[in-house]
Amino acid sequence: MKIGVVGTGYVGLVQGVILAEFGLEVICMDVIEEKINLLKQGIVPIYEPGLKELLDKNVAAGRLSFTTEMKETVEQTDVIFIAVGTPPKEDGSADLKYVIEVAQNIGKYLNGYKVVVNKSTVPVGTGQLVRETIQQVLNERNEEYSFDVVSNPEFLREGKAVGDCLKPDRVVIGYESDRAAEVMKKVYDVLYINETPFIFTDIPTAELIKYAANSFLAVKISFINEIALLAEKVGANVQEIARAMGMDGRISPKFLHAGPGFGGSCFPKDTKAIVDIGKQYGEELKVIQGAIEANEKQKHKMVEKIVERMDGISGKTIAVLGLSFKPETDDMRDAPSIDIINGLVENGAFIQTYCPQGMKEAKWRLADIAEHIHYCENEYDAVKNADATVFMTEWHQFRGMSLQKMKDLMNGDTVFDLRNIHVKDKNVRDLFNYYPLGRK
Ligand code: NAD
Repeated sequence: MKIGVVGTGYVGLVQGVILAEFGLEVICMDVIEEKINLLKQGIVPIYEPGLKELLDKNVAAGRLSFTTEMKETVEQTDVIFIAVGTPPKEDGSADLKYVIEVAQNIGKYLNGYKVVVNKSTVPVGTGQLVRETIQQVLNERNEEYSFDVVSNPEFLREGKAVGDCLKPDRVVIGYESDRAAEVMKKVYDVLYINETPFIFTDIPTAELIKYAANSFLAVKISFINEIALLAEKVGANVQEIARAMGMDGRISPKFLHAGPGFGGSCFPKDTKAIVDIGKQYGEELKVIQGAIEANEKQKHKMVEKIVERMDGISGKTIAVLGLSFKPETDDMRDAPSIDIINGLVENGAFIQTYCPQGMKEAKWRLADIAEHIHYCENEYDAVKNADATVFMTEWHQFRGMSLQKMKDLMNGDTVFDLRNIHVKDKNVRDLFNYYPLGRK
């Protein structure tokens, strides 16, 4: 069985590499020539730990190839994954233009029975829309090839994507025909025989599972962030609250870490998209809407806290350590650092920053305020002469920093630890005016 993966981003590339690792022959396709050229040279265009090794191995084994040709991708494969972006529109709804474009192209080149698998995160009804789009193009071509559409949402976490795809918690397959379900069992044979839980369901349910799962996690984050704000006011400790809450099997300790707000390419857009789906069907999703609003508030609160504790920041230099929305990724989409840095600059601060992977993308996302930001060589360079340091993302190398060296390099002595990574360091409170999040 030969697999085509259309869209070679964080999801499509990892998916393509892992399916090749499972022994299938895979063609990864993308419209961005530069991306495909890099991949052909063995250069991975995104930062994802462990991906390069598996990519090299499977290219060498002859199972994995890259192309910009849609015709070849459709004609030569039996199963075609759609893994293109579904970014938010102005009104929060998911923009399906890339998905539709791919469906049209599949219709254009279909040359026999194929299973079209939607891996992108898409609103309920997209499976049907993809089917209708392909069918319409086939009608225009006067061709009668049969095909099936399957929904197979992706749950990988950036930074841990390789492990997540090699050993997923579950695989969700939304299908309409038994023939397609059998094909999907074959695609995921390695996981299927290794007792990975599979959920076979209808397409709308599969589509909604993905949004429901991401929204639930976003709600959990916003929940603990609000508890952190309250804990700070009443003199309680959010970490102990989260620990005690998490020991309850019904709650679980995961996603109970207070921080500056959720970000990334999924939670912000998926929460907005499901609220929009609710609106379309006359159901107001108040809990999820609340999580979105709490997340916006959280970022404002971080700026407010920094301004207040420093008696204003106009003319002051603030070191921001970490830009990506979480460690081990270069993804800056909707990272809280963007809003928080904008807020600090609006209040008159100059920013010195360092992030192991996020700086390239940050430079264009923060281009409007470029003259207020200096991008540094490393974390120590960033704190040099700073009046305050803000730990924004919990990269390991920031955890391991010498606090004494930091103190010697800084001009001021104020530290805002928005991830509580130094909260247990014995000297941190002696050396600095130290402000952790949601605790003393
Ligand atoms: P991405 O932006 O990194 O990659 C999408 C790729 O699709 C790009 O390389 C783009 O050039 C390509 N593309 C666009 N139109 C195309 C076309 N017509 N033909 C071929 N290629 C085309 O996006 P991503 O982060 O990989 O996300 C893809 C989907 O998966 C989204 O729906 C997202 O919500 C979902 N998802 C993402 C994650 C994640 O952590 N990134 C996790 C689970 C699900």
